[in-house]
Amino acid sequence: MRTPMIAGNWKMYKDVNEAVELVNSIKRAIFNVDNVEIIVVPPFTDLSEAGEMLIETNVKLGAQNCFWETEGAFTGEISAPMLKSVGCKYVVIGHSERRKYFGETNEMLNKKLHVVIKYGLIPIFCVGETLEEREHGKTWEVVETQIIEGMKNILDNDLNIIIAYEPVWAIGTGKTATPEQAQEVHKMIRDLLAKLYSVDFSERIQILYGGSVNPANIESLMKEPDIDGGLIGGASLKSESFVDMVKKTSWLYAKK
Ligand code: PEP
Repeated sequence: MRTPMIAGNWKMYKDVNEAVELVNSIKRAIFNVDNVEIIVVPPFTDLSEAGEMLIETNVKLGAQNCFWETEGAFTGEISAPMLKSVGCKYVVIGHSERRKYFGETNEMLNKKLHVVIKYGLIPIFCVGETLEEREHGKTWEVVETQIIEGMKNILDNDLNIIIAYEPVWAIGTGKTATPEQAQEVHKMIRDLLAKLYSVDFSERIQILYGGSVNPANIESLMKEPDIDGGLIGGASLKSESFVDMVKKTSWLYAKK
């Protein structure tokens, strides 16, 4: 059985004081949860402080982005080794907001994935279609291309990677994909990974759903066989709702 994962993407919210408060509150509330992988993904400016606070806890640290070079004259960018040095274990790559507002292409994301993996960080690789693409029946074509081009030449069967299926139309809109809609794409992603890598690989990889996940819908999503967790934006910004989602996931898996 794959371990469920709940990851909170804080986007561009929380200064360092607010981050300290949120991390403290989360840490205290879920210190005894041992059957869920819990990740917080704060903005860069909070990582160092959060990293210190999370040492030897059951909450792991992730970053929201990283550049594909390791150092150099790239003003404003942050490298994979830098993220490692402040305690990051995970990096979100290819969030739809980065694709949309910062022009990140599949080719750029492929370079990012290569460097993240090379430095021993675990990518949370985001894929997903826009509303227009879904309405034109192109959901799978888009997601398949994002995976094939994004993961090009990453052929390691031992690879540690997390895929997050995040339909763009569901992110921050309050419009969640139904569990059936999400499961359908998750299953197709798993079948594609079986083809590209191996069945063992595809069975091991955690595939998260993202798009307006909240305490009211988490259980119905998590009951689907190919949904292994959530990448959660808005509902991860308050300790109560984030902790609630972690606990609900924990109870659900404890019963399995
Ligand atoms: C996200 O930031 O990846 C996300 C899914 O946001 P929200 O949960 O707010 O839709």
